[in-house]
Amino acid sequence: MTPRHHPSDALLVDYAAGALTTGPRLVVASHLNACPHCARGLALAEAVGGVVLSDLPPAEMRPDALDLALARIERPESPPATSAGLPQDWIKVPAEVLASLRARGRRSAFGAWISPVTKGPGRARTYLIGMAPGRGVARHTHAGYELTCVLKGSFIDGGIVYGPGDFTEHDGDMTHAPQATDEDCVCLMATEAPLVPSDWVGRLVFPLLGVS
Ligand SMILES: [Zn+2]
Repeated sequence: MTPRHHPSDALLVDYAAGALTTGPRLVVASHLNACPHCARGLALAEAVGGVVLSDLPPAEMRPDALDLALARIERPESPPATSAGLPQDWIKVPAEVLASLRARGRRSAFGAWISPVTKGPGRARTYLIGMAPGRGVARHTHAGYELTCVLKGSFIDGGIVYGPGDFTEHDGDMTHAPQATDEDCVCLMATEAPLVPSDWVGRLVFPLLGVS
C-alpha cells in the first residue's frame, strides 16, 4: 500500500541537502523506501538543482569555484536500504536500523517495546518502538520534533489510522497517545528530546522503556 502521510517539503529539502542529523535522516529514508511519490519528488528536486547550477551565467571563476560548486551538489549518500534479515512484514529500512536492533535488543513494558538506534546530538534519540495490538504509547507531548515512520502494521492517533510507510511529524503543540490497531505495530521514531508524559501512566512507563 502506498503511504498517505508524507514528510513536509521542508524536511525533504533538508534531506536532499544532507542537512538532517542521523535520526531524522533514517526516518525520512525509511519513508522514501516505501513512497514512490516522495522518491520521485526528491529525484526531481535534485535534477532541478543540477539545471540551476548549469544555467548560471559565465563569470570570471574564483579559484575555489569548483570546490564551492561541488559543496552545493554533494550530499551524503542515502543510507542503503536492505531486505536481508528484514523482520516479517516490515517496509525496507536503512541497514543500520536492523544492525542496532540485532546489537541492542529490546526493552519491554506494558505491551510496548523499545530498541535504541542512535543517540544525539544533545538529547535527541532515535529508536524502534513496537506496540502489541490495542496497546500504545501513554499520552505525552514533546520538547522538540518527533518524527515517526510506520515500518509494520498500523496505529491510530487522533482518529487517523497510519499504515506501513506513513510518516508523522509532531512538536510541543501536540499532545497524543498513539495506539496500535488490531495488529502488531512497529515504528521508527526520532525525537529531539525525551517524551514528556502527560499523566501518571507515562511517568511510570517511560523510564522503564528508556524514553524519558
Ligand atoms: Zn511520501
